[in-house]
Amino acid sequence: MSAQKKVLVTGASRGIGKAILKTFANEEHYLVGTATSAEGLKTIEEILTSSNSSGEGIVLDLNDDASLDEFFTVLKDKDIYPDILVNNAGFTRDNIFLRMKDDEWSDVLNVHLNAQFKIIKNLIKPMLKNKYGRIINLSSAAAAIGNKGQANYVAAKSGVEAMSRTLAREFGQKNITINCVAPGFIETDMTDSLDEEYKRGIASQIPLQRFGKADEVAELIKFLTSSEADYITGQTIHINGGLFM
Ligand code: NAP
Repeated sequence: MSAQKKVLVTGASRGIGKAILKTFANEEHYLVGTATSAEGLKTIEEILTSSNSSGEGIVLDLNDDASLDEFFTVLKDKDIYPDILVNNAGFTRDNIFLRMKDDEWSDVLNVHLNAQFKIIKNLIKPMLKNKYGRIINLSSAAAAIGNKGQANYVAAKSGVEAMSRTLAREFGQKNITINCVAPGFIETDMTDSLDEEYKRGIASQIPLQRFGKADEVAELIKFLTSSEADYITGQTIHINGGLFM
């Protein structure tokens, strides 16, 4: 990709999103990363400064409509319309189905699915006008396999995949590609909290015998937004060490 692109990565303060921002920071892009707190924004600013990249951090809580509205206003005021959008931010609120509370269900659906709908709806018009857009939505291997205690998360991620396939059909003629990346177990804060014995058990079932690294997911995402991947759309690309195939 030659001309400078504007890249927006949600949840860029930690884990996979932080790795994505770092991966793009080596390129000639204008980078925008989001975090829910001032502390997260500091991390984003440090990445931009240390890599000599242009860009900024913006506060965004996907579980808060007012925060989303404010975010869209800031983007509009600053004339930031991303060419590359990575919907990465997310969290889990696990519970076995019979104990799952309404807010555990709705918060996860809100952050992972409803917010992605709102973000894409708000940011796709300039992509249509430019006849160029690359959208990557983070899914999870759990959407394909199912996972005990994650009915909310799996429902949301499956929805993201289905929505992405539909958007790929609706916007392909405008040179906008929409793909999902579905990681398996990746070493981030999201998996850090898992019990050590459970993690060892999972790793032993993975053909490559280990959890993945955030950088490995970031490299895949960079490829999917590069010109080498111009003919890939509507796909869910799995990256999981062979856990699911
Ligand atoms: P992580 O290390 O926990 O980082 C989550 C990121 O999302 C942080 O930047 C966080 O911001 C942001 N975030 C959390 N809640 C948010 C909210 N309500 N609104 C806006 N931003 C929010 O997670 P990760 O492991 O990198 O996961 C990234 C994506 O990959 C997620 O969509 C996740 O579902 C998916 N995924 C991860 C794995 C895995 O094994 N790690 C596997 C499959 C899929 P703050 O720093 O401000 O909290």
